[in-house]
Amino acid sequence: MLSWDDYHKQESAPAGAAAAASVPQQSAEPAPAPEPAPAPVEAAVEAPAAPVAAEPAAGASQVPPVGLEENLARAHEALENMDVAPGLEELEMGASRVSVDEKAMINCRADLNQLVPFKYDWAWQKYIDGCANHWMPQEINMTADVSTWRSKDGLTEDERRIVMRNLGYFSTADSLVANNLVLAIYRLITNPECRQYILRQAFEEAIHTHAYQYCIESLAMDEGEVFNMYREVPSVAKKAAWSISHTHELSDPTFKTGTAENDQTLLRNLIGFYAVTEGIFFYCGFTQILSMGRRNKMTGVAEQFQYILRDESMHLNFGIDVINQIKLENPHLWTEKFQQESIQMILEGTQLEIEYARDTMPRGVLGMNAAMMEEYLHFIANRRLSQLGLPEQFPGAQNPFPWMSEIMDLRKEKNFFETRVIEYQTGGALTWD
Ligand code: FE
Repeated sequence: MLSWDDYHKQESAPAGAAAAASVPQQSAEPAPAPEPAPAPVEAAVEAPAAPVAAEPAAGASQVPPVGLEENLARAHEALENMDVAPGLEELEMGASRVSVDEKAMINCRADLNQLVPFKYDWAWQKYIDGCANHWMPQEINMTADVSTWRSKDGLTEDERRIVMRNLGYFSTADSLVANNLVLAIYRLITNPECRQYILRQAFEEAIHTHAYQYCIESLAMDEGEVFNMYREVPSVAKKAAWSISHTHELSDPTFKTGTAENDQTLLRNLIGFYAVTEGIFFYCGFTQILSMGRRNKMTGVAEQFQYILRDESMHLNFGIDVINQIKLENPHLWTEKFQQESIQMILEGTQLEIEYARDTMPRGVLGMNAAMMEEYLHFIANRRLSQLGLPEQFPGAQNPFPWMSEIMDLRKEKNFFETRVIEYQTGGALTWD
């Protein structure tokens, strides 16, 4: 055991541990946490989670109360006897400072706790842009939606189906994305500026889930029916199951990158979540709900989706940059076979989204129909393929909904649906006197 005092004694010796530590011997990656392994994300669909054990009620403690003096004495004693060796080993005391050249997207051995110097300025910029776009669901006025939804002739049956199905799909989809970020890919992306954006993205996913919950609550929908739709409605369940199948291996806490096979598994996950889930599976629903808003129906729900779409297009662009950077740094992973597999993933996602379009639009509605959506999804699939450096699979596919691109680029200040109903504090001033 090495105490702080022992350590400082060693440090003051002329040829101490510091010199030896100047050559990194092992990864600065934090050791795996000793907590019990999280259940695989897919368990979410298989069966409900076990109830959380109840905390002992306040005041039910068996430990007799002790005085402050005694507590302090125990704290001092614990610090005096603290074994700092494991922490010091992890920090590699005396190791040289981080240089940009050592940084890498995956399998990096440089210290991941030091954000700078930046290597990937694009990742940091996306973090800054994501923060600048901050919004909350309660800012949006839902009053008109509530009366439209309650009114018998506010919406047609086909329009109601679109609202229900999309809240059903999206209310759990963003949780699947968030789980994949924090339980699977965060630890495997070994770059601090990318991790900084991933943390921002994870919070945005929480805001999106909050937004869907806020819509469901405002409209007084049966929340069990909506949230459980990904287990009950085949066109929704298939998309959820496809996404979950791509997080299964990585959410195993013993999964490690470092072999070509496992690095490709990570790439497959990134393509499955960024290019397909966030890049294809969201587009039929976004288009339908935003089309509703353009026709002045369910404008509150549409405005929520508009903010979500703006965030999602940044998630997508970040993911594409991450995938392309990994390819650039690890060209051996981007084999002919793997490229074929990636094309197939995009085609599978496109097909599932086309099936979803058919299920949500059995007839023409809101100036669109399933055939137009199929054309749009072919156009979107071509975009995803070319963003990944893969050949387009649907030659000549056109965008029947050019207004979607305008909405994606819309700045918050130019919002065309509704005005904000509350101001939240982003820069509340602190006073120090
Ligand atoms: Fe997202």
